[in-house]
Amino acid sequence: MKSLEVEQRQVVVIGAGPSGAIAGALLKRNGHDVLVLERQRFPRFSIGESLLSHCLDFVEEAGMLDAVRAAGFQTKHGAAFGWGERYTEFDFRDTFTPGQGSTYQVLRADFDKLLADQAELQGVEIRYEEEIFAVDFSADRPRLSVRRLADGHEYQVECAFVLDGSGYGRVLPRLLDLDTPSNFPVRQAVFTHVEDRSDGTGFDREKILITTHPTLRDVWFWTIPFSNGRCSVGVVADATRYQGRPEDLDACLKQFIEETPSLHKVLKNAVWDTPARTIGGYSANVKALHGPGFALLGNAAEFLDPVFSSGVTIAMRSASMAAGLLHRQLSGETVDWEQDFAIPLKRGVDTFRVYVEGWYDGSFQDVIYYEKAQPEIRRMISSILAGYAWDAKNPYVAEPRRRLRVLAEVCASQ
Ligand SMILES: Cc1cc2nc3c(=O)[nH]c(=O)nc-3n(C[C@H](O)[C@H](O)[C@H](O)COP(=O)(O)OP(=O)(O)OC[C@H]3O[C@@H](n4cnc5c(N)ncnc54)[C@H](O)[C@@H]3O)c2cc1C
Repeated sequence: MKSLEVEQRQVVVIGAGPSGAIAGALLKRNGHDVLVLERQRFPRFSIGESLLSHCLDFVEEAGMLDAVRAAGFQTKHGAAFGWGERYTEFDFRDTFTPGQGSTYQVLRADFDKLLADQAELQGVEIRYEEEIFAVDFSADRPRLSVRRLADGHEYQVECAFVLDGSGYGRVLPRLLDLDTPSNFPVRQAVFTHVEDRSDGTGFDREKILITTHPTLRDVWFWTIPFSNGRCSVGVVADATRYQGRPEDLDACLKQFIEETPSLHKVLKNAVWDTPARTIGGYSANVKALHGPGFALLGNAAEFLDPVFSSGVTIAMRSASMAAGLLHRQLSGETVDWEQDFAIPLKRGVDTFRVYVEGWYDGSFQDVIYYEKAQPEIRRMISSILAGYAWDAKNPYVAEPRRRLRVLAEVCASQ
C-alpha cells in the first residue's frame, strides 16, 4: 500500500445499508466510536422491499422503530400464496413465536435512507460516496484504503475492528478471498415497479403475494404493494428458464405474467411505467463469517434466495449479534466469534435454507398449498415466514428437515 494519511478510529463499518446502519447505531448507543463508509449517495435503489416481522425487533433495538412507524410505509400483515386456483394466506399476527406481528413493505431507497439518517442522528458518522478498495489485516489494527469518489482523493483508516455490511459489494469476501460458491443453482430475477390500479380482487395490499407459475413450479413471482398505489413485481427463475424468451426485460417479465392467469388478473389494469431491471447469480456464501479484526454482516456473508423475503431480517440479525459481541470485546472481554456469532447466526440461516430448498423441490409448496393443515402447524410455519427462524421452541425450527419431510409426506398422501 502506498503511504497515505492514516486516520485512527475504533470501528469502521463498510456500507450504510440495513446491516451497516443498525450495527453502527447499536455500537454508538453503547458508547463506541463508529465510522460508516458508503460508496453510494443515499437515497439509492436497492432490491428487497418486503420486510419480515422479526426485523422490526432490531429496528426497535437500534432506537429507530418510532421513525419507521411514522414514515407511512405500507403495513404488511403476512404472506399470500397463489398457484392456479389455489390461494392461501399466512398471518404474521397469529404465529407460534410471539413477536412483532405486522411489519412493512418499503421502497428501499426511502427505508435505507431513513435508517442511515437515524443512525446519524444518534451520532454515527457516515461518509457517503467513499469507497473501500483495499484492506490490510496483517498488523494488529486493520487498515482500510478509502477513495472519495467526488475527487479521487485517497486515504487510509486504521481501526480496532471492521464490520463488513457491504451487501452485494462483498468487500471483505473479495479482498480476503473468503468467497465460496453457493450450493443453489444460478437463478435470475427480472422486476419492475408498476402503478397497479388493482381493485383488490385476489390482491390483499397488506400482504406480499407470492405466485407459483402454473406449469413451471420452480418459477415464482413476487407482488409487493406499496402505500402509494404502486407495487413491485418480479419473476424468479433458474437462468435456463430465460432461454428462448424475449431479451427485452419488460417483454420477458410480461410474457411470464401472461402465462400465469391469476397474477395476470391482479395486474390487468397496471400501468407499466418503469423499465424492468434484472439481477442474477445473487446467491453467495463465504468460508468464514469472521476473522481477526473483522466480521461479515448480512449479504456480505451469505445470501440464500429471495423467496421468503428473509434478506433484510438476516442482515439486521447479524448486525445486532455482531454489535453486541463487539461491544463486549471492546469493553475488554474475550469473546468467541465462532461460538457466539457464526454458529448461532447460521442456525437460523440454515432453517431458512431447508424451506428454500423445499420451495424449489416442491415439498414446501405442497405444505403451503395444503388446504387441510392443522392450525397449530400453520402457526409454526407462519412464525418462520415472519422471520422467527431462530426460535428453537418451534419444532419446525428445531428440526426443519425432518419435520418438513414428514409434513410433505402427509400432504402428498392426501
Ligand atoms: C431479487 C431479490 C429480491 C429480494 N427481496 C427481498 C425482500 O423482499 N425482503 C428482504 O428482506 N430481502 C430481500 N432481498 C435481499 C436483500 O436485498 C438483502 O438481503 C439486503 O439488502 C441486505 O442488506 P445489507 O445491509 O447486507 O446490504 P445492502 O442493502 O446491499 O447494503 C450494502 C451497502 O454497502 C455499500 N457498499 C458496497 N461496496 C462498498 C464499498 N466498497 N465501499 C463502501 N460501501 C460499499 C453499497 O453501496 C450498499 O449501500 C432480495 C434480494 C434479491 C436478489
